[in-house]
Amino acid sequence: MSDKPSKVWYAAANATNWTESTIAKAKDLFYLAGLDKCIEKDDSVAVKVHCGEWNRTHCLRPEFVAAIVEEVKACGGKPFVTDTTTLTYHLFNNRCTGQMLVEGANRHGLNWASLQAPFIVADGFFGEDDLRVELPEGNIIKETYIGRGLYEADAVINLAHAKGHPITAFGGCIKNFGIGAQSKRGKYQTHLAFWGDPEDAIGYPKVNKEGCKGTECPYAKMCEDSCPESAITVAAEGVELDYEKCALCYSCQVTCMFTGMEGIGFRDDYFPLAQIAMSDAALGCMKTFKPGKIGYMAYAVDICPECDCFPWGGLPVSGDVGVFASKDIVAIDTAVCDLIDKAKVYPGSRAEELGLKPGEDKFKAVNAFTPRIQLKAAEKIGMGTMNYELIEYEPELNPENIAKWQIRKTPMTVRPMRQVFENHHVGREFPFNREDLGGWLNKWKDFDPTA
Ligand code: SF4
Ligand code: SF4
Repeated sequence: MSDKPSKVWYAAANATNWTESTIAKAKDLFYLAGLDKCIEKDDSVAVKVHCGEWNRTHCLRPEFVAAIVEEVKACGGKPFVTDTTTLTYHLFNNRCTGQMLVEGANRHGLNWASLQAPFIVADGFFGEDDLRVELPEGNIIKETYIGRGLYEADAVINLAHAKGHPITAFGGCIKNFGIGAQSKRGKYQTHLAFWGDPEDAIGYPKVNKEGCKGTECPYAKMCEDSCPESAITVAAEGVELDYEKCALCYSCQVTCMFTGMEGIGFRDDYFPLAQIAMSDAALGCMKTFKPGKIGYMAYAVDICPECDCFPWGGLPVSGDVGVFASKDIVAIDTAVCDLIDKAKVYPGSRAEELGLKPGEDKFKAVNAFTPRIQLKAAEKIGMGTMNYELIEYEPELNPENIAKWQIRKTPMTVRPMRQVFENHHVGREFPFNREDLGGWLNKWKDFDPTA
């Protein structure tokens, strides 16, 4: 660990006035953390988000993204909002091609109308528009492939949604680059598809014949149909997988695991290895930018155990924690994990079912491995430090701060509302009849069943 802590700016989620809106605080943190310094006039600035799977309900809301787009513009940059296609697909995946990704982003409200900036698929129509980055310093992977839209941008704001992930335990800024900036070829790297033989079951699906109900499984047909290479056969005795045909698309694991079945999955130590590979790949994305051209932000809200790539959103592990900004990718993810762990568990959530107390590692408990593996791996290859100084920010309530992030700088009561009132009242009939109160000042109590 570095002796010198990296600064992480943080504003808590709670809000009781204009200045404490999560959006207002995110805009303040953008400047306090110096992210404006990443942008020069006319820079093409990528705002990297996870745009969420179809029917996902807990991903970044468009106004959270628009808030940052607005400040990129205010700094003279030319923003575009971006994400990449998925490697995995299955029968109902909706982000496998560029066209599907744009449809899904649009359904989540990430479009020109809400963002006032284009939404661009960084790796093209089929996830093949990429550039290779060598990673001799990588812990596991030695090359990766970055979506050209990110590779070619002058600057980037890595705008993460903090949440869990069943493979990588946690998804923050490292995952937003380590998976989210990679083209399909890059995602093969991070999923360790090139590693080992089928029996190692690292890149390859792990078949657990005893866990498969064979033709009795209600998803047996889906399971066979989901394989694009016809490598899967389900017989009465269980599933057979022809590794000669397998193209490592991860469709079968998704079908089996998303339906709660146990016939095909991953070997246990695939998960920590995938975290380490993901950190390597995140460095690949960072290397495509000149020094000082990357800023990191994270919204720790709607903190579900699963990632935004899941087509649902269950109860979060904790209540909303807040918003973070930093110039250090490792420091920001470490701070986010620490503060999520510190938070009270959400009533009715899996974290509560597991009996977790504030301070315990929530993502380790709900997803099997600690997310600190990716942080330590990233630190080891010089991406940043887990040693951070948390600077808590509470905006001061004063007239200037109230006005700062409003759509109109001139209060409505001055213009045009004064005009509207004058138009209605001057020289016109009053628009309604004035009635006597008729004792109603006390009568409302008759409607209060708790009185
Ligand atoms: S067997 Fe291979 S090709 Fe077929 S769905 Fe599974 S991972 Fe994809
Ligand atoms: S979904 Fe899983 S349990 Fe069902 S048939 Fe396929 S491998 Fe077997």
